[in-house]
Amino acid sequence: MAGLKRLLAAALAVGGLCPVLSGCQPRMHTASATFFAMDTVMTVTVAAQDEAGAVEATAQGDETTVHDFEALFSATREGSDIYALNSANGEPVRIRPETVDILTRALELCELTDGALDITAYPAVKAWGFTAGEYRVPDEAELKELTGNIEYTALELTENRYASLPAGMEIDLGAVAKGYVGDRLAEGYRSCGFSHALLDLGQSSIMTVGTRPDGNPWRIGIQDPRGEGYLGVLELTDMAMGTSGDYQRYFEQDGVRYSHIIDPATAAPARSGLASVTVVSPSCLTCDGLSTALFVMGLEKGVQFWRDHPELDFDVIFIEETGAISITSGLGDSFTLAEGYEDREVTVLS
Ligand code: AMP
Ligand code: MG
Repeated sequence: MAGLKRLLAAALAVGGLCPVLSGCQPRMHTASATFFAMDTVMTVTVAAQDEAGAVEATAQGDETTVHDFEALFSATREGSDIYALNSANGEPVRIRPETVDILTRALELCELTDGALDITAYPAVKAWGFTAGEYRVPDEAELKELTGNIEYTALELTENRYASLPAGMEIDLGAVAKGYVGDRLAEGYRSCGFSHALLDLGQSSIMTVGTRPDGNPWRIGIQDPRGEGYLGVLELTDMAMGTSGDYQRYFEQDGVRYSHIIDPATAAPARSGLASVTVVSPSCLTCDGLSTALFVMGLEKGVQFWRDHPELDFDVIFIEETGAISITSGLGDSFTLAEGYEDREVTVLS
């Protein structure tokens, strides 16, 4: 993709930019760029051996790569592959290789999670008002009709990059796109020789490349889903994390909280007893997709899913509506409670 090519070209063109190619390790310079994309505020931080290199690297991530992917994957932007697919009335649509790639991987996660992740949930997301911000509670009949149109297996990918979706169905990559972009950005930076970067693509997807420039792990705060601050800290090196929570986008009606994460089985916001799920894995896409899916599954099924799928190489922090915190055993050394939360009990799952 043009963004990544330009990133590579820029990195190679700037003298002294590639630490792997240089014999010595002088002091690193760090630059950050904060921008709005994919409906969220993102901050890309990259360290390089000279200041101009760091600034250029962050600018490339912002101005080209992330926006290029958004232009392909957005469900609301006319001209995107996903917009074209959703408006095609059942006709096959030719899509870009990157769109084939993300759809293929998203479908794998939909299948693995037995449809807890389902990228065809978009009509339900819209019916509850989450795209326009005009919130409403659909009645039973409407929900029943909506569930009939949520079925990821109906999306067909055929040869020569064609995709088709039955008329009336629509997809949205909101649960996986940031994770996919996190992986692609990290790949781009790594291939250019950058060894220290923090890609904060909004709460749902954070990717780390290497350590901080001082050699210590990156430290990422875990939001208290019912408070203002962070209840814990995760230390990450070359790892991604993604959080899905009922506090990120929601409305309340008659004392009930309705969040933007839809249970595909009911077409209604998932009410599994969880307030947030954070997934940690080397793959940012896995983190993004699985955090959404595990939020739908709830604690019990979610833990079983973790036990059943060691091949997916992930760990989880579950925070229940009651405030109870459970972490899977792989996070024992990297998760600590934040100041003010030290008296919270943390259950370690194995
Ligand atoms: P995330 O913040 O990554 O958990 O993704 C939530 C977003 O993904 C929502 O805003 C919807 O656009 C979409 N979505 C909601 N529920 C689901 C679901 N069960 N499977 C796939 N996408 C979903
Ligand atoms: Mg997600």
